[in-house]
Amino acid sequence: MPEKSSPIIIVGAGAFGLSTALHLTQKGYSNITVFEKDNQIPARYSAANDLNKIVRAEYEDDFYTDLTVKAIEAWKSNPIFKPHFHQTGFLHCVSGTCPEKAVGTMKRFRAAAERHPKIKSHVVPLDKDSTIRHRFWQFNGQFPGWNGYLNQFDGYAHSANALAGVYRATQAAGVRFFLGEQNGAVQEILYSNGKATGVKTANGRVHHASLVIVAAGAAAGKLVSKLGTQIVAKSWSVAHVQLTDEETSALRSIPVTYARDLGFLFEPDPKTNLLKLCPMGGGFVNTDPASGVSYPPSLEQSAFLPKEDEERIRKLLAHTLPALANRPLVHKFLCWFADTSDSDFIIDYVPETSGSVILLSGDSGHGFKMFPIVGSWAGDLIESSGNQQAIPRWRWKTPAAKGSTSWGGDVSWRLGDTKELSEVQPRKAKL
Ligand SMILES: Cc1cc2nc3c(=O)[nH]c(=O)nc-3n(C[C@H](O)[C@H](O)[C@H](O)COP(=O)(O)OP(=O)(O)OC[C@H]3O[C@@H](n4cnc5c(N)ncnc54)[C@H](O)[C@@H]3O)c2cc1C
Repeated sequence: MPEKSSPIIIVGAGAFGLSTALHLTQKGYSNITVFEKDNQIPARYSAANDLNKIVRAEYEDDFYTDLTVKAIEAWKSNPIFKPHFHQTGFLHCVSGTCPEKAVGTMKRFRAAAERHPKIKSHVVPLDKDSTIRHRFWQFNGQFPGWNGYLNQFDGYAHSANALAGVYRATQAAGVRFFLGEQNGAVQEILYSNGKATGVKTANGRVHHASLVIVAAGAAAGKLVSKLGTQIVAKSWSVAHVQLTDEETSALRSIPVTYARDLGFLFEPDPKTNLLKLCPMGGGFVNTDPASGVSYPPSLEQSAFLPKEDEERIRKLLAHTLPALANRPLVHKFLCWFADTSDSDFIIDYVPETSGSVILLSGDSGHGFKMFPIVGSWAGDLIESSGNQQAIPRWRWKTPAAKGSTSWGGDVSWRLGDTKELSEVQPRKAKL
């Protein structure tokens, strides 16, 4: 366990890195430095730098449900987080043509919500499309064949604003930040006799530390090469419809609306009048042929919406808000996260570093809801004995064989095939 005054470096100021900085300062660690390769926080490379992320408590797996119930308690009570949480409810459905796999997933989520003592009273069954139409006056779509449930325990968080809030709180608590492609981008972790001694940034400067926490999201493999394919950089699309003031106002307080086969949309953002849409699906990877590992590409290469995703988004709008179905889609991009084959996070010491490097990644596309508490898990690991994660599912995993292409498709809640970025990229973005 490091001394409270020992130098600790956190690489990455996304959701996991900022939360860790916050929790470590609250535990009394006084010498923390965060490195972020973007020159701003919220960082443009962070998967969490977005208008909003779903905060829904129910998982098929009670382990994560219990954690999210704790996270939602923190979203609602902690003054740093509470301005950013909006308990609009979560309308969780399948459309009439949804594949069986996803129907089963939705039913298991619903069962999880209905059996949890803190959640069950908030669940409203919506087994027919007519029931959905009657319940939500703001939607004028037909919801053809939709069925599912509304969970009023859930909602969303304004994720970019939450990142900015925690950035301010950690600065105020004395955390130092180095930002930008030169000062903030960590090029490598430096070792002496198998133990990390610090990091080197792109400008060649060396920063010493007794503990390095790698919270670099989808790019973690660039710094910890022995990760191999334990973490796969994967992306889903994001797009928006630009609304008028009146349209935004009329849609205030709609629930997060999700058909598992079509994707989801949120209450519009009152500041920008943007309505965010995410089509989900199997996602896209960017595999380096030499290593077999997928790494995130540049922002420029990610600035487009694949055709198949646009079709799903337009169908989602046609079912729910048909007046918007043919509107231009703006601010379109692929958002990169760190996927693992079983969808569990990795929060553990990197083997053979004598307890000097922790990996905090593998968010698997569902980590933002844990923002208020994820940093406490890194704190628990640091203060545990034996340099090993006590929770087996968050331990360092055995890397999949090179050439494996399953990319987590076996995980129940994922639907659709994962494709290579090169298969869907428009020519202009391939540069
Ligand atoms: C489209 C999409 C939708 C999602 N929706 C939800 C949702 O509804 N609910 C939910 O709970 N979760 C959701 N997620 C997942 C959520 O965004 C992630 O779980 C969360 O952002 C993970 O945080 P992180 O800190 O591990 O990674 P990130 O937030 O990506 O942060 C990593 C940071 O590390 C920095 N970095 C990388 N390499 C270096 C380096 N060498 N030097 C310095 N800095 C570096 C990056 O610039 C970045 O800022 C979604 C993800 C995507 C892609």
